[in-house]
Amino acid sequence: MKCASNGRKAALGVATAVLALAILTGCNGGPSKPVSQTELLLGTTITITVYDHVDRSVIDKAFARVRDIHNRMTTEGDQSEVVQINREAGIKPVQVTPDVFEVIKTALDFSRLTDGAFDITVGPIVKLWGIGTDHEQLPPKKDIEALLPLVNWRWVKLNEADHSVYLEKRGMGIDLGGIAKGYAADEAKRILAQGGVKHAILDFGGNILVMGTKPDGSNWRIGIQTPFKTRGSFLGIVTTADRSVVTSGPYERYFMKDGTMYHHIIDPKTGYPVQRHLTSTTIYSGVSMICDGLSTSVFVMGLQNGAALIRQLKGVDAIFVTDQDKVYYTSGLDGTFEITNSDYTREPLPAEAAPGYKPPAPSVIRAIEKLDDVTP
Ligand code: ADP
Ligand code: MG
Repeated sequence: MKCASNGRKAALGVATAVLALAILTGCNGGPSKPVSQTELLLGTTITITVYDHVDRSVIDKAFARVRDIHNRMTTEGDQSEVVQINREAGIKPVQVTPDVFEVIKTALDFSRLTDGAFDITVGPIVKLWGIGTDHEQLPPKKDIEALLPLVNWRWVKLNEADHSVYLEKRGMGIDLGGIAKGYAADEAKRILAQGGVKHAILDFGGNILVMGTKPDGSNWRIGIQTPFKTRGSFLGIVTTADRSVVTSGPYERYFMKDGTMYHHIIDPKTGYPVQRHLTSTTIYSGVSMICDGLSTSVFVMGLQNGAALIRQLKGVDAIFVTDQDKVYYTSGLDGTFEITNSDYTREPLPAEAAPGYKPPAPSVIRAIEKLDDVTP
């Protein structure tokens, strides 16, 4: 995960997003004054805004939970459980907390679901590129080729009996940056709900989760960022309650070299940033971890196969935006998502997957859909 190192970039951008979100939602509409708190965690700016009369300690507890998750899952420093798992790659299994075990288990389900488009073992490649850090680079081809054979989610072994994780090859490494924020948002929501919160916005660096409705009973309005435009400039609005909306896109973290853009979403098959004419993908569902994992996944899969996959998942919808300013979205968002920027036009979703697409097994689909059943 790209935690902390690029906090500056993220902090600047997201603060504007939060401001814009506040304007959209109308902070002075409800019966009680909202209480908002912000911290830099999981490599981004996290803001929780609660619209109910609850003790501030409830929000502190939610942040303490997110901080725990950060400390367990970051790839920075030499302390986290993920760092320990990576250090013992090819040597021995490492016992981990249920947090880390469950997130890795779900990440592997996403790998099965997406035929490896989502793959947390891109860790060494993510480190090599260093995108969003102060040592980002276009690595020599031979360096990428040397690390690519270490990328394979099938070599992550989980042992349910003792909650241990083993990476089978020396030099392997996992990176939970594509899923941890979603998990943390779901957990923060759970803690807030236990503390009596019914109406809140959790903004984890643009990964949005809304609890309940606005205090006046109307739906929240969540802006979908216009790619490569100032934070808070939206191409459309999702109007909803009790849902999460997560966007992945190259504009989040990238650098330019000789006219080419290099960004932070890696194709596990090539070791290079995904080049697919998509400028963003957004997932809409009841579970933020599903949104986070699948927004990264469908970005890697591309429009045709990404749409084919999302159509198979109950309660999950997607929005794809292309570099031609075309917007494609699944039918579950009819009446919920509205394009508000006239530069963008809706196009019908491709009817079929690309040749060679491997549809996921029903048991894998069930494993993902089950995440929605168990969330409070
Ligand atoms: P953001 O963190 O900007 O919200 P994403 O959720 O799309 O963006 O996650 C991107 C992060 O996920 C990268 O910074 C990296 O840590 C990790 N990652 C990159 N490529 C993949 C991939 N193919 N599968 C799983 N994780 C990935
Ligand atoms: Mg993600």
